[in-house]
Amino acid sequence: MDQSKKTVKTTCCYCGVGCGIVVQQQANGRLTLEGDKSHPVNKGHLCSKGMNLHYTAMDYSDRLLYPQMRMNRSMPLQRVSWDAALERTATVFRRFIEKYGPDSVAFYVSGQCLTEEYYLVNKLIKGFIGSNNIDTNSRLCMSSAVAGYKLSLGEDSVPICYDDIEQADVFFVQGANPAWCHPILWQRIEAHKAINPQVKIITVDPRITDTARSADLHLAIRPGTDITLNHAIGRELIENGHIDSDFILDHTYGFSAYREGVMQRTVEEAADICGLTPEAIRKAARWIGQAKGFLSLWTMGMNQSVIGVNKNLSLINLHLITGRIGTPGNGPFSLTGQPNAMGGRETGGLANSLPAHRDVTNPEHRAFMENFWKSPQPIAHKPGLTATEMFDALKDDRLKAIWIINTNPLVSMPDVQQTELALQKSRFVVVQDISQRADTVAFADVVLPAAAWLEKDGTMTNAERRITYLPKLMDAPGEALPDLEIILRFAQKMGFQEHFNHSSAAEVYEEYVKTTANTNINISGLTHVEIQKQRSVQWPYSPTQTAESAKRLFADHLFFTPNKRAQIKAVPDENRSEPTDPEFPLVLTTGRVRDHWHTMTKTDKVARLQQHTSQPELQLHPQDAAARGIRDQQLVVVSGRRGEVRVKARLSEDTKPGVCFLPMHWGKIQGSILGRANNLTNSLVDPISKEPDFKFTAVQVAIFEKP
Ligand code: SF4
Repeated sequence: MDQSKKTVKTTCCYCGVGCGIVVQQQANGRLTLEGDKSHPVNKGHLCSKGMNLHYTAMDYSDRLLYPQMRMNRSMPLQRVSWDAALERTATVFRRFIEKYGPDSVAFYVSGQCLTEEYYLVNKLIKGFIGSNNIDTNSRLCMSSAVAGYKLSLGEDSVPICYDDIEQADVFFVQGANPAWCHPILWQRIEAHKAINPQVKIITVDPRITDTARSADLHLAIRPGTDITLNHAIGRELIENGHIDSDFILDHTYGFSAYREGVMQRTVEEAADICGLTPEAIRKAARWIGQAKGFLSLWTMGMNQSVIGVNKNLSLINLHLITGRIGTPGNGPFSLTGQPNAMGGRETGGLANSLPAHRDVTNPEHRAFMENFWKSPQPIAHKPGLTATEMFDALKDDRLKAIWIINTNPLVSMPDVQQTELALQKSRFVVVQDISQRADTVAFADVVLPAAAWLEKDGTMTNAERRITYLPKLMDAPGEALPDLEIILRFAQKMGFQEHFNHSSAAEVYEEYVKTTANTNINISGLTHVEIQKQRSVQWPYSPTQTAESAKRLFADHLFFTPNKRAQIKAVPDENRSEPTDPEFPLVLTTGRVRDHWHTMTKTDKVARLQQHTSQPELQLHPQDAAARGIRDQQLVVVSGRRGEVRVKARLSEDTKPGVCFLPMHWGKIQGSILGRANNLTNSLVDPISKEPDFKFTAVQVAIFEKP
């Protein structure tokens, strides 16, 4: 790159892999980019989304440029000043809080927010407004993993580092398609396998994905049977002496109940339930049992489930009974969907948490934060409303006002018609976003234009606990402001000037860092300057320790539980998803396609990303299609107990008979085709993590006939 131009080193703002990017701004304002060869995550490589990211940053065609508001929803939005928009929002919030209490308002934020933004909005509502009603769209993707880690390891802690990839010889990829969704990590796995042919990849997925195509063993299970499979593998490991008895004895508790649980089904019975052969399960168990490095990777197929936490625990248990954790090449590795879901978790950006992995239900944790923030009132002791609960509460008027930041719930929430109804019935909605394509704008009383990637600064944490700094390269268009600045101005309007007078993101970061002292995620002394100097830093951090020592957690086998032992938690082996029946006999799973991201407010602007998948299609097995007289590319109606979708059918043997797949990216208004997958999904959530059951919906498919 020509170093005479304005150049910044930053991080990709799509997925949680966290690839380093070098962006250059030409004299005419045009941007070019390339992968950062010096970045430890991607070593110069970028996937299709990352390498086209600059096009989204140069296209202002859909950007929100000015604050807007309206006095009632029958009126059009009108341009107003920042002062007017925030004054009205503060007036309405104050009125509701005075009349109905602090729990009458809520913030719904995003895993794309920067760490400083997450911290500040948390501080505002939990520490100063007096409610825990803040939740994030990470609730929809990672909260089952968070709860799984807490229950087994004592805290929300991803123990591995990416360098473990090159040290592992068995990869167990369950409910994930990293070839499409975490491509740079997948490339590292493939490169490692290319020079080490003994490396084995096992994939667990009802569909033949690109990941499954490259696997040595594809376990195409029936949806919802992951726990049955993992228990059968656990039983095989126990019966064949592939467990680490010393590790179990010295560093865990709960093994007896676990062993009793997994012995209840034979491998043959489990294979029958999962739709596999006993030999395939035995082969997977043998490879895991004989591995020198056993790395398990998972994401939405495990997390987005009514039994998501138990699925996570059943997988983490395989590491605990074999002692494969905390050593090179070994450990459970939850792949993170969003770029800063981890930063959000660290700063307490969930309805039940406080900064540095503290918990709102813990009196000591609350007391520490009240004191640290100098809160005017005690922090509420009950968890706030989670993502789906917020919209339920809006619908029945328990919640009066919601402020939605950088997320598009009218596409991404389950049973989305109910979300739409909730917004229709809501009294006051603030939408803070970069794009007028956000479907929520239609329901907003106040619209606040936010700065995008490259237009603000702050930090993010990737899936291996690696913190990077994202510098500002250019000004936001129109009057758009950094999210941090918007929250600061609002907090000042609410009367909290003294505690929200930070002059920069660096200052906010400095304050957040102080909350981590004496915690397991300690980063005391870390600053924006230091992160830039090192390019990236993994937590835990201390100025005196080496980067090597932060690479993986639990090398000493002392876990974050009160007794320092990991819990091998026995979990029931049952699925509680919506049942199929003769009316709705097929199981619908939803997920991503390779070149689109979330609700496409960014990727839809890039022509070359459209080429891979330009419209939503229902992947349907030819056998299921033939039974219904459906031909390839024929328009079909997919119906369920809550709604329907009209899309073209794509016949493919890549899915199991009885299972169909629909991408989740498309919204309601996409040409003449109604392709919003969440018209179909249901409102079931995991009882612990409150994560929705996106991967199991009972549906029927029929040829669409014009009425
Ligand atoms: Fe961006 Fe993820 Fe692709 Fe890396 S793998 S370039 S972080 S989308």
